[in-house]
Amino acid sequence: SPPPDLSYLNGLNEGQTAAVQSLDGPVLVLAGAGTGKTRVLITRLAHILNMRDVRPWEILAVTFTNKAAAEMRERTANLVGPQAIEIKLGTFHSIGVWLLRRHAELVGLNTNFTILDTDDQLRLLKQILVDEGIDVKKWPPRGLAAVIDRWKDKGLRPDQVKDLDGNGFAHGRAGELYKIYQTRLTAQNACDFGDLLLHILTLFQQNPEILAQYQNRFKYILVDEYQDTNVAQYLMLRLLAQKHKNICCVGDDDQSIYGWRGAEVGNILKFEDDFPGADVIRLERNYRSTSHILGAASGLISRNESRLGKTLFTEGNDGEKVVLNGLWDGGNEARWVADEIENIERKGASLKDVAILVRASFQTRDFEECFLSMGIKYRVIGGLRFYERREIRDVLAYLRVINQADDDLAFERIYNLPKRGLGAKALEKIRNIGRANNLSLSRAAVLAVEQKLFKGKPLAALSELCANFEHWRAQKDLIPPNELVEAVLEESGYFDMWRQDKSVEAEGKKENLKELGPALADYESLGQFLEHVSLVMENNEDKSDEMVSVMTLHSAKGLEYDTVFLPGWEEGLFPHQRALDENGLKALEEERRLAYVGITRAKLRCYISHASNRRIHGQWQSSLPSRFVDELPKEHIADQSEQGVYNTSRASDASSTFTWRTAEPTHYTDVMKKRAAANEALVDNTTQPLKSDGSDTGKEVGSRIFHQKFGYGRILRKDGPKLEIAFEKAGTKKVMENFVQTC
Ligand code: ATP
Ligand code: MG
Repeated sequence: SPPPDLSYLNGLNEGQTAAVQSLDGPVLVLAGAGTGKTRVLITRLAHILNMRDVRPWEILAVTFTNKAAAEMRERTANLVGPQAIEIKLGTFHSIGVWLLRRHAELVGLNTNFTILDTDDQLRLLKQILVDEGIDVKKWPPRGLAAVIDRWKDKGLRPDQVKDLDGNGFAHGRAGELYKIYQTRLTAQNACDFGDLLLHILTLFQQNPEILAQYQNRFKYILVDEYQDTNVAQYLMLRLLAQKHKNICCVGDDDQSIYGWRGAEVGNILKFEDDFPGADVIRLERNYRSTSHILGAASGLISRNESRLGKTLFTEGNDGEKVVLNGLWDGGNEARWVADEIENIERKGASLKDVAILVRASFQTRDFEECFLSMGIKYRVIGGLRFYERREIRDVLAYLRVINQADDDLAFERIYNLPKRGLGAKALEKIRNIGRANNLSLSRAAVLAVEQKLFKGKPLAALSELCANFEHWRAQKDLIPPNELVEAVLEESGYFDMWRQDKSVEAEGKKENLKELGPALADYESLGQFLEHVSLVMENNEDKSDEMVSVMTLHSAKGLEYDTVFLPGWEEGLFPHQRALDENGLKALEEERRLAYVGITRAKLRCYISHASNRRIHGQWQSSLPSRFVDELPKEHIADQSEQGVYNTSRASDASSTFTWRTAEPTHYTDVMKKRAAANEALVDNTTQPLKSDGSDTGKEVGSRIFHQKFGYGRILRKDGPKLEIAFEKAGTKKVMENFVQTC
């Protein structure tokens, strides 16, 4: 046969070539962002297939996400052709499922076992707690789930946790509860996510002949994003690699961002102990980013104390400095980002090379609204777009029935949501009444109530629902749409449904629901808002690639874009309040690594921004720029906020045509100095908006006012609800109207 085409080796640097060519024995590639680790793995896959007598299914390759797996397969296929399809390539979970289905009976399951999602898991844990007479208010199932998940991440079975007290859950009963939980799971022929690996460990440990079968089969093992493996995953790799010892792991300790899910950077250190004589290769040249971007990222991460430490350089251009800007509020921030996107698009950039990376998923809404109104196409990666989310669609269904009593599809969605004891039979009955009287469902329901066609509880429930709709319809034109939606959320019992749900998902759903009110605040009527939403939904069908990507920092791992926007760099948001509450260095350093991951996604342009005011879950909060902003090395930063200019308007926007200029710019370093001096609370949650009944007309230019935080001052100018105020002590600031009182 002809000699293999090895042209894929061309262009690799020395370290990369070594990492690709040292095919046999353990190899650890420890290197910073953008140094070609993933490229090395892909090239290595091709090289193994070309140089060794090995079939594709004898190679195991593990990636962190399904998206990354698909990409790796495609890029490998480009090098070696269709045989790439047969490589055993996937995430730890997908490989775990594959193995477990093959050998389920050996761990007490049938091959058709179900995998519980988090909701199911919590429901089962709750049952167990109730059965055991443990107060679920005091000891919520979620707490137990966290303890058990961490044990599973560490590869510990119930019989191995006897001496561990599980963070004191239920006074040290977690181990015992864990045991009951596992028994119940097995009885139901089910497992949870953690079990996918835990069962495999058990399987391998208790069945040496089966382990041997896979040890023989997998002649080569490759692992990307190694820094984010947990102990259970590590143990599985170690077992599988024991025979051939041809294992190559690539990772970057500075990008370890899943500690909260049990990942252990320590696995990097253990590698050399467990695989003595491992070839440790360091790559130092970054091929991804310009030197300003790399400089900014390196400067920031150098603040972390726990690092293995490494150097990074680029031979790329200096490029443009990282742009920093401070904006008035979240809406302005989104507007600024949109403007910048239009600017670079005019210069020839393509939207598919632009990404917006947020810390918390609620941040996406401001961008979605802004992009929609400006006609910038976008997609939300790793999550649904705001109006596609289940909980949002549920509430939209309520609003649709209010707006339009004949909207049967919407009525069907919510007539028994939250559960009111109205099942499918009740719906059928309402439908028949509707048919007989030529009425839509919600009108037929009213008739059914009036004529008492239901009895007992269903009648009471339906009658309450109809009365509610009548009340909301009456309110519709009297109160602003955002107040209407708040009323619907509370009065329907829908929000309560999520309040009572203690699952992790419920938290996110409540956060999203709280975003809905603010979303409606900009619309004059409910009808206008619903029209907007239906346009948004339609926009949905667009399959083209020409879209901005919006996603969380966590899901951006391993990806790269020409232009990256990093909004919301504020204390309490990023670093996240949870990390600050923990008060330890560890959580804060993980946040900083997340910031490092963010910046290093950018190839050519990187924009960082923070807003002075942000509406978080329906409440205005004023916030300080993130400490990370101050940690960026100045020589790599172009600070637009230094000009003290807040763009509340765009030239094309006729409704508000002036640009705010503050007399005393709240430059971030001033704020940082103040904070250092006072060592005060990091996010100001204390300033609550003052109640305004809307009839308050005393807030005119020239009026004297009082603000809880800034004290007395006089209004200099007014732009809708935004006031520019000369405070007697605090200087000139802009605040929202309902934060001040006239006096
Ligand atoms: P991360 O830590 O973010 O996952 P990484 O180390 O996996 O980064 P890659 O994604 O493999 O880095 O590579 C970063 C970019 O540099 C890619 O666009 C890749 O094609 C390019 N690159 C890597 N090595 C070379 C090389 N030798 N010559 C030219 N470009 C390269
Ligand atoms: Mg990579």
